[in-house]
Amino acid sequence: MDYISTRGLSPAVDSAQAVLSGLAPDGGLYMPEVIPAFDWQRCLTLSAQQMSAEILKALLPDIPDMDTLVKNAYTGKFETEDLTPTVPVGDFQVLELFRGPTSAFKDVALSMLPQLLTAAKKEKGIAEEIRILTATSGDTGKAALVGFRDVPGVSICVFYPYGGVSQVQRAQMVTQEGSNVHVCAVEGNFDDAQTGVKNIFAACQGKRLPFLLSSANSINIGRLAPQIMYYFRSYADLLARKTIALGDKVDFSVPTGNFGDILAGYLAKRLGLPVGKLICASNANNVLTDFLTTGIYDRRRPLLKTTSPSMDILVSSNLERLLYLLSGDTALVSGLMNELNREGVYTVPGALLATIQREFWAACCDDAKAQEIMSRVYRDWGYLCDPHTASGFAAAEDYLRATGDKTPMVVLSTASPYKFPAAVLRAIGGDTGGTEFEQMARLEKITGVPIPAPLAALQGKPELHTDVIEKEDMPAYVLGLE
Ligand SMILES: *Cc1c(COP(=O)(O)O)cnc(C)c1O
Repeated sequence: MDYISTRGLSPAVDSAQAVLSGLAPDGGLYMPEVIPAFDWQRCLTLSAQQMSAEILKALLPDIPDMDTLVKNAYTGKFETEDLTPTVPVGDFQVLELFRGPTSAFKDVALSMLPQLLTAAKKEKGIAEEIRILTATSGDTGKAALVGFRDVPGVSICVFYPYGGVSQVQRAQMVTQEGSNVHVCAVEGNFDDAQTGVKNIFAACQGKRLPFLLSSANSINIGRLAPQIMYYFRSYADLLARKTIALGDKVDFSVPTGNFGDILAGYLAKRLGLPVGKLICASNANNVLTDFLTTGIYDRRRPLLKTTSPSMDILVSSNLERLLYLLSGDTALVSGLMNELNREGVYTVPGALLATIQREFWAACCDDAKAQEIMSRVYRDWGYLCDPHTASGFAAAEDYLRATGDKTPMVVLSTASPYKFPAAVLRAIGGDTGGTEFEQMARLEKITGVPIPAPLAALQGKPELHTDVIEKEDMPAYVLGLE
């Protein structure tokens, strides 16, 4: 199957090459030229692993032996056999994406990406080591480290902002074992770390190196495609529970940062799943809310630090894929992305905005609102959610209030409440003093919700990665790793 760049200036490649390359040479993102025909009804009868394999076979047909890859990725790694359970909570259904090895929703994709990458490498007869570079604001780094740990022929280097991630997130990364993992703090903020990684990619472009550079970011189609599964899984769960009948529509409210998660929901719809509206939930960094209501994407604003840091983002890379999917016009997408780079702002044509608004709705909530939601969801429905998930609840409520839509609503839960214990404790009226580990223990004591085992096990583990470098030294650091 041909994959083409959203900017239309790079040659088409097959799906294995798209996974290997990550970004297209013209700076665009790879998308299948046509969305394949898919037996979505049969897919709903399968187990989570089989679902994942069928979806990935359809979208990445040039990667062989998908059943084995999926088995290697998921077996024994998640809390439950169905990987991503959907549980009823008050007026909503909650799709829990945080039951993986690092308690973050990124586990679903980052358990699978290493399998896809190594299979694609073998398929293309590439002998060199693949070196994965990732800048992280917290969650991606750990999920990538666990996913790539001891994968033959691959090494991984994670950069995080020094002092810029939570205690738990730092502990998760610096205690990571494995013969092929590197973790390094960078003096600066997340943007500095990310710019540093981008500069390394740019500097290495076209150079002969003893390794291939790649990224674990959701610009890679091999990271995006594995996320489609859980929309099917959730729909199948609602069917089994007779909340819906086959063919009924379901709406999904998605805490959004880089627009990868919600785009996977749209791809599920294009594969046939009866998805109604996709609600794009943002925090106080509400670039996407503005865009989806006005058609103007404007990143010329300060990045605010919130209690939902994984959504603190001004440029949502995967939106480019949506613009391409809904317009089919690579020249338009390329022009808009150039404007974004040059001016920091672009406006989509009215017809395209109308098409987008038929599929998507958007709302944002600030930290105070997220706290109010966490508090109310716990008090009224006995469910503990994290600040990211709270934004999903908030947007779902706003949508129902604005439209009166009676379609069942699934809220995606993207992180364990134990990843953000201070914010959650504050919301439920608990004392927020002490270290994050003390906060976690207190939260467990108050609520009786068990701390995820991998988080509980962190305390007291030896710190294996203590390097701190200046951002200027990042290229030398990467080249010097053995
Ligand atoms: C990454 C992340 C998100 C945002 O997902 P995108 O695919 O980037 O939109 C939301 N919540 C949490 C907890 C995350 O880690």
